Amino acid sequence: MEITTHLFINLSLLIILLFISLILLEKSKNFSLSKPSMITLFIVTIWLCIQFSYAPVSYARFDLRMIPIVLGGLYVGIGPLLVIAMIGIRSLYGVDIGLWQTLAFYVPLALILWRLYPWFLKQPPTKRIFFTICIGMSLGILSVVGMSFDNLSVNQFDAWFGFLIMPSLGIGIISYGIEFVRKTNEMQQQLIKTEKLKAVEQMGAAISHEIRNPLTAASGFVQLMQDDYLSRQKRKEYLAIVREELFLAEKVIQDYLTFAKPAIEKFEELNVKSELRQIINLLQPLANQYSVEIVTDFCIIGYIQGDEQKFRQCFVNVLKNAIESMPHGGTLHVSTEYSQDEVTIMVKDTGVGMTSQQLERLGEPFYSTKGKNGTGLGMMVVYSLVRAMNGTILVESEVGKGTTFHFEFPTISIKKMEQTGRV
Ligand code: ADP
Ligand code: MG
Repeated sequence: MEITTHLFINLSLLIILLFISLILLEKSKNFSLSKPSMITLFIVTIWLCIQFSYAPVSYARFDLRMIPIVLGGLYVGIGPLLVIAMIGIRSLYGVDIGLWQTLAFYVPLALILWRLYPWFLKQPPTKRIFFTICIGMSLGILSVVGMSFDNLSVNQFDAWFGFLIMPSLGIGIISYGIEFVRKTNEMQQQLIKTEKLKAVEQMGAAISHEIRNPLTAASGFVQLMQDDYLSRQKRKEYLAIVREELFLAEKVIQDYLTFAKPAIEKFEELNVKSELRQIINLLQPLANQYSVEIVTDFCIIGYIQGDEQKFRQCFVNVLKNAIESMPHGGTLHVSTEYSQDEVTIMVKDTGVGMTSQQLERLGEPFYSTKGKNGTGLGMMVVYSLVRAMNGTILVESEVGKGTTFHFEFPTISIKKMEQTGRV
């Protein structure tokens, strides 16, 4: 069973390569290989098949090179290219009668594959697999018939068995693999799309709801103010309410816009320490109101890249949440650490903390436990801004004990800052 054994080795090689390409696909960004890498993979496969072929006489080589050629031709449309490459590789093993036979066999095949390619891709997957198996079988039969013309002294049973089973089996397995990957990929894309649509829908519904409430309230009070006999005092009171409600609506829009478009237009060098100091000064009155003591521990250096305005917005949200989580007072620790690669900012409160379910929902739009006092947009904005500044967030929390936020941002190297004249 010389032929079957050799074809079996070929088949094993093909399956190993199939697995390698699956791994490459997995590692690739959008689950697809570029055309050049695909061509390289097919050519390497063809070369391996030829290298491990059965050569009963010096000029004849029997192997499964037809499998990569057929599959490359039908799925990628590179049949002619693969045949040219194959002939090039085959000629390295000797320019002999076998090479001319190869030409006679594969040049028409290349043209047929080229013509079939557009039609093939339009077929349903099962039909495609069935079709490739049929082609594999026909090519196997043709190979054995071609062999008998050569008057080679081969075992007929071995030749028929090997060439009827191996090509169709190999082609079937691999095209099934290809179809499986294609289907998974398609499903993944569809899922992403529906998820996106769902998010937009939810956002739209939630936003209009969040904006409608303050607007309805504001318009109600405007109507009340139409009363000619309203006292000055009352009118003033109503106006203040209207202003507050409109301000709330504006805030929702502002937060939403920051989330929807967190693209940071200008990247500047931010001195983390001085930025945080300014933010803390800003929030000191709120901390006093909540009887919260703010303790800081900043390392001397630490520059990161980001937009000052957005950085402030981000940490105002975080520190405000931390202060608000301590309604009966507490301590808020804000510290930074510096290393060559990253600047870490830690915000630790001794507030109410969060359960693991609450922690999971942190950053979800409109998730708030503060009822009318919260918009549930603050943390969502924080997450999208930190992501836009190439940072990461880690949160630890324990109910009743408090919450710690760790932010990590890439450090700007001193060298680079010297170039820009900051040090
Ligand atoms: P809001 O502050 O308007 O409620 P956020 O998006 O800022 O919305 O926060 C969402 C929710 O996350 C808060 O309602 C609160 O339940 C929880 N949260 C955020 N930060 C903290 C914290 N430091 N301690 C406890 N809970 C927090
Ligand atoms: Mg908040």
